[in-house]
Amino acid sequence: MPELPDKTSAFIDWYLAVVDAANLTDKRYGVKGMNVWTPYGFLARRHLDEVLIREIEATGSTPVEFPALIPANEFAKEKEHVKGFDAQVYWVTKGGLSELDIPLVLRPTSETAMYPIFALWVRSHRDLPLNVYQIVNTFRYETKTTRPFMRVREIHFFEEHTCQADESAGDRRVRSNLEAFGRMAKAFALPYVAARRPEWDKFPGAFYSIAFDIPVGAGRTLQIGTVHHYRENFSGPYGIRYEDPDGTQRLVHQTTFGLSERLLGAIVSVHGDAKGAVFPTAVAPYEVVVVPIPSAGSGPGPEATANEVLERLRRHGRRVHLDGGDERPGAKYYRWELQGVPVRLEVGRREAASRTATAVDRLGNKTSVGIDTLERDVDAVLQQFDAALFARALGAFRDAFRVVSSIEELKTVAQVAIVGWCGKEECGHAIEAVVDGGLLGTPESDLPLELHAPVACIACGSGAEVRWALAGRPL
Ligand SMILES: [Zn+2]
Repeated sequence: MPELPDKTSAFIDWYLAVVDAANLTDKRYGVKGMNVWTPYGFLARRHLDEVLIREIEATGSTPVEFPALIPANEFAKEKEHVKGFDAQVYWVTKGGLSELDIPLVLRPTSETAMYPIFALWVRSHRDLPLNVYQIVNTFRYETKTTRPFMRVREIHFFEEHTCQADESAGDRRVRSNLEAFGRMAKAFALPYVAARRPEWDKFPGAFYSIAFDIPVGAGRTLQIGTVHHYRENFSGPYGIRYEDPDGTQRLVHQTTFGLSERLLGAIVSVHGDAKGAVFPTAVAPYEVVVVPIPSAGSGPGPEATANEVLERLRRHGRRVHLDGGDERPGAKYYRWELQGVPVRLEVGRREAASRTATAVDRLGNKTSVGIDTLERDVDAVLQQFDAALFARALGAFRDAFRVVSSIEELKTVAQVAIVGWCGKEECGHAIEAVVDGGLLGTPESDLPLELHAPVACIACGSGAEVRWALAGRPL
């Protein structure tokens, strides 16, 4: 069996090898950056989406779906937004044999598809808030090296779009989204930071942007999602107005919340190890794999017990797979470890006779479960596995940050740097130049280190209005 590249010293090679070996996508499709979702990868994606759907709907959002094609004139209405996507959009210019009168944009994101319709839906303060989301494919003409789940041209995208009565209602929606993301990340056992992006790095058309970043080693970070407050930047050009209780016409304030398949990339990156992928229970295509160990002898056979285990766990609502193939058990263990299955249940002749099975979780913890108490025992094993997985991720997360107090020190740092920053753009760019990356912004969530108040800006030395900021190299 081929060894995987070393995760620490050759992260990208390791990542690509794991995605490939775990059979999550097939990258041999004829367009670069557009990957085929395999049956196994599709299941992971579906379970991931189920978590997003559950958590966003719990906050009063409802699903919609808008067309993938956007007329060029609607796309062009918000100037900053268009500028931001200019180099990245795919155009549809022909219908059959004739040139289209109005060319169409293949959505890079759906503001400009939705907002002309929002202007028709929102009339009165009674129509607010309008909180809707969709999970669709979006398209961006990516010119950098593409990588499965991390940088692709066809993106599996979750996007919530809302209309609120005023700015503070918009702020509250942003907070609600941040909390919802906290619950999603918990299900994925992913520690993260939320950071308010600096002015020069916010989403085109946004009043402010808060992004979720996940450290993936060596000072690199993966941006896996964003929440934006648009104020009236889109509702003005698209004419999304409502009549308030006094009869005055007002523009709505808008927010968006976007997440993509990068979440799956983050799950592979953070939890994966030298043996391959590791899925938290919530996302795992199979939560449990049952492996009967055939052997000669008398008494109840392992196959009958393995079948009983399969049926019982299935009825219990667990995603379970019976691997009854004729490979030797060791080869099966190897493959399911590579594919990240949380728990395998081994049933040999001795176990079958004593009405037990051996549970081995993906982190290597071994316990015996009783067949007569199977459902309860397996629930407990999975729960312990998720807790251990999160603890392991949290350990790596804490090690991924370092407080840095001078530019000299910043030059040598191999973690995500936490630095004092005065808020000035020139100082921000100076910091970015040193880390050869980006100023991720000011933290909006708890940092993993105990911090006193910052003393001075690391770039200019000023003590005025200094705040903590994060600097790293976006992957
Ligand atoms: Zn400064």
